[in-house]
Amino acid sequence: MSRILITGVTGQDGSYLAELLVAADHEVHGTSLSADEHSVDGVELHQLDLSQPGIGGLIRSLAPDVVYNLAAISSVYGSWQKHELTARINGLAVSEMLAALQGVLGARFVQASSAEIFGAPVEVPQTERTPIKPTSPYGAAKAYAHSLVNVYRTAGVWASSCILYNHESPRRPETFVTRKITASAVRISLGLQGTLELGNLDARRDWGWAPDYVDALYRVAQSNTPGDYVIATGIDHSVQDFVAEAFARVGISDWRAYVTVSDEFIRSGDAPRQVGDASYAREKLGWAPTVGFEEIVANMVDHDLELLRA
Ligand code: GDP
Repeated sequence: MSRILITGVTGQDGSYLAELLVAADHEVHGTSLSADEHSVDGVELHQLDLSQPGIGGLIRSLAPDVVYNLAAISSVYGSWQKHELTARINGLAVSEMLAALQGVLGARFVQASSAEIFGAPVEVPQTERTPIKPTSPYGAAKAYAHSLVNVYRTAGVWASSCILYNHESPRRPETFVTRKITASAVRISLGLQGTLELGNLDARRDWGWAPDYVDALYRVAQSNTPGDYVIATGIDHSVQDFVAEAFARVGISDWRAYVTVSDEFIRSGDAPRQVGDASYAREKLGWAPTVGFEEIVANMVDHDLELLRA
């Protein structure tokens, strides 16, 4: 049994990872700003605001075998408004965590890095060697954290980064386009909502299934040597593809009759296309995605239907 600390344990990824680790009989601790998201039985919760110093002290007192850093301001768009908070939580807090782990024998650190570090990527698909050129405060803070992981790894800390592409599940909030689409399609099909307002329908993303990405984080923590890994499906779809698939699932073929484009949701600096090459993770970790695009959409739509019927 290992002692594990997961920051952001009540979020989408944190809750899936906690379920996996509790089931594997580990002692699981987690930080959260509030416990009202997805709490998992068997996790010891530590209420902590990562925008303030404190995580280093918690790491020193708990002495975990593994720290998974999943806490973040998660909205790329929102990071333009919450730029300082994003810098503190997605960037500065990581420096406090890594400094607390320096010199601690046997301790491991796994960072949830992001495809947003590549900004509007200069090559397709992206790999661990693609130039880092963020185009949002979110991407810049994640890029800083990503660099720090490399700095501390060079200085002897066992620290790895997973460059995670978009990964979805019914635990996504509606601030993300996938859940916004599935929840709206279901409400529209039941006559509870008139139309769906979206931003750029042509943006292309490499959408994967969140539990698969959490499995990758777990494999990284157990691997022999620390490193950076792109975690992606290698297949991209447009926002419009996602809309069409979700509406088809609820029996609506003419989705265009219900969807409008609003300036409110168009982002400046939005990457037109993100798609990752996870060959290195496949080779080193034996990791591969198990759930494809159609199944992700179906799972999310069916969950939203069940929620409303209940
Ligand atoms: P992100 O990639 O982590 O920011 O995940 P999102 O789900 O928020 O956005 C994915 C893509 O969907 C981006 O290219 C957005 O510009 C695009 N998009 C289009 N319309 C919307 C919308 O109404 N809401 C959100 N969140 N994204 C939208």
